[in-house]
Amino acid sequence: MDYINNYTGNILIVDLESGKCDQEELENELIDGYLGGAAINLELHKKYSAKDPLIIGTGLLTSTFVPGSCAAIITGKSPITGKVANAPLTWQTGIELKLTGFDFAVILGKSAKPVKLWIHDGLADVEDSGEWGKDVWETVDALRHNYGDDMVEAIVIGPAGENCSPLAQVSENYWGSKDKFGFGKVMGEKKLKAVALRGLSAFEVADGFFDECTTLSREIANGVIKGKQGAGEIGKSLKINEGVLSVIQEMTHRDNACFNCPYPCLTFLKYRESAKEMKSTDVKEPGCLITDLSGLAAFGFLGKDAPQALEQCFRFGLEPTASAMLVEKAGKKDLAAAKGELENLTKSSTGLKEAGLPHLNGVSPWPITPSLDTALVQALGIFSNAVPPQVVVASPKDFSTGDSAQAKAAFWAKRQAMAYILGICPIFILTAPEMTEEKLAGLIKITMGWENFSVEKLSGICSKYLSEILAMQAGAGEIHPSLKLDGLEAGMQQIRSVFK
Ligand code: SF4
Repeated sequence: MDYINNYTGNILIVDLESGKCDQEELENELIDGYLGGAAINLELHKKYSAKDPLIIGTGLLTSTFVPGSCAAIITGKSPITGKVANAPLTWQTGIELKLTGFDFAVILGKSAKPVKLWIHDGLADVEDSGEWGKDVWETVDALRHNYGDDMVEAIVIGPAGENCSPLAQVSENYWGSKDKFGFGKVMGEKKLKAVALRGLSAFEVADGFFDECTTLSREIANGVIKGKQGAGEIGKSLKINEGVLSVIQEMTHRDNACFNCPYPCLTFLKYRESAKEMKSTDVKEPGCLITDLSGLAAFGFLGKDAPQALEQCFRFGLEPTASAMLVEKAGKKDLAAAKGELENLTKSSTGLKEAGLPHLNGVSPWPITPSLDTALVQALGIFSNAVPPQVVVASPKDFSTGDSAQAKAAFWAKRQAMAYILGICPIFILTAPEMTEEKLAGLIKITMGWENFSVEKLSGICSKYLSEILAMQAGAGEIHPSLKLDGLEAGMQQIRSVFK
């Protein structure tokens, strides 16, 4: 293992059927050819496809000093689309995985009984899960209590996942995730209640790398995001429901950021005490962290109660956008009725199509007026629709995306592929035009010591990945009616031809 600056060199292989954990070496050829993240996940998925793998993988730059380098990627076969898809994990999860001493975790097969996976300090164990039956918040608390460490990062499911609801979402700690592909159901079927992570490894840094990262960070902070932060700015970019924007404005307590991210988009809303209250009080759960703006916006029909409905989804481990669409469809117009309906959804195994929500390929579409470019990217079925379907805070001109809908959509797909492969937050990368392909290629060159690495090489790996996964999507699911705009089919074909 030569690439000590970026990877630990270890792939964890977990067989839930036998309860055994093993490890493989992360071969240099895999890194040379695919870099990391979603691209290596896909290779591992193909290798272990007979055992229904769910893979959690870090990117080449995850947990480095590169701005926004917090991401890990979950890859698996989506029970919603029936195809391989990806969901990013942000916050600290990817960092914690790398620090445990594993770059990738491949979870195979099904357990006969409820279990949890405990990965820590180069070790991994499959253990019985006493947390089965608890909601997401109770589970995270129990894991941290059991392992005696509040810094444990947890990927868990709630009742929705245990019941194998098609609406089940994995949760990163307490506040949901960007899983829009039903990976919560996959974990439930595997009887895997939680993956708990804690590691204390460290990484070498190549000479000059830290300084380059700091320079880029400063440039970004003084660029188009200067003076801007929070979910509200992203909502304004997307022209989401005005009522939801007012709720954000009135209830904002603070904006948080994931590891090393210059754009804090995670807005904490307080509604059980004044949003202006800055010191700790005895109010136990004062509000909710908005990690899924699309989910909050979808609950806009509940007005000021929208954040509380989102909170309930997080507790149950439900994907918020599709849940909100079904709650609205059921005519539940107040919070109590909405919460009751959400509880019903955790127990429902009815497919989304049968429930009247042709959700499939346009997984949980954003509650915005779609344009052809945003419809195209939401219909791809590869990357999470929790990520805005266009550049945000910045404008397309800042990125020189091209003017046509197809050009904008192809730009988005390429930018997402880059983020998912390198381990950069796929939301952040849409806000920062200063983070160019040239600069990323330059940083990779320094940190990997690859003299001949070039922007063409980076671009080629991303295009090759897109080409392969787009080909695998053929025949995936159904496209949501709201995305079926004139030109969608032709546009999809054009995007495929761009990455051939
Ligand atoms: S853009 Fe938001 S989700 Fe992404 S890393 Fe920054 S704070 Fe986290």
